[in-house]
Amino acid sequence: PGFSSLPLTPELLQGISALGYAQPTPVQAQSIPALLQGRDVLAQAPTGSGKTAAFGVGVLHRIDVGRVQTQALVLCPTRELADQVGRQLRRLAVGIPNLKLSVLCGGMPLGPQLASLEHDPHVVVGTPGRIQELLRKKALHLRGVSVAVLDEADRMLDMGFEEPIREIMGKLPKGHQTLLFSATYPDAIRTLAGAMLRDPVEVTV
Ligand code: AMP
Repeated sequence: PGFSSLPLTPELLQGISALGYAQPTPVQAQSIPALLQGRDVLAQAPTGSGKTAAFGVGVLHRIDVGRVQTQALVLCPTRELADQVGRQLRRLAVGIPNLKLSVLCGGMPLGPQLASLEHDPHVVVGTPGRIQELLRKKALHLRGVSVAVLDEADRMLDMGFEEPIREIMGKLPKGHQTLLFSATYPDAIRTLAGAMLRDPVEVTV
């Protein structure tokens, strides 16, 4: 079964075909129905599994472009990964006019990031340290976030980002959806998942 058997909007199907994807990968087939139902998802999925498009669909289908507020937050371990995720989400969003997405990473000048936040991007992709800093500066507001993604969560913990992740996640409004993707499942990930996810659908590929 192809993507059209999933309950995706025409806008997202347009993005998927623009990316040239014909068939969902296993992580996409297993997680997208749960994502679209608003369930929390805990997925063990390595790089190369198609995880970005899986959570990308989950993020983009929740965005109301008419609402000028940050509605989705994606946390990544490195600038390289955040840039790559940002690029793939922009391509997936070709059918969603006026969608605004900002990539906010450490090691990059703050000025342009502060400027990009004045327009309240619908989607923010970034690394935990810089996101924490922008929250403390009250430049970034999370009160409108309905979906948060922890991408490569095991690498984020390895890099020492547990504290900023907990601070950031603690600022999300009640009832938000959380998606946690990790290549490996050490105890620290189980503990984080236990603290962050509510009755998650578990996906292993
Ligand atoms: P990821 O695991 O998200 O890093 O994705 C790995 C690669 O697979 C990326 O180059 C994606 O563009 C590609 N990809 C993701 N989903 C599909 C799909 N359904 N069909 C073909 N390629 C895909």
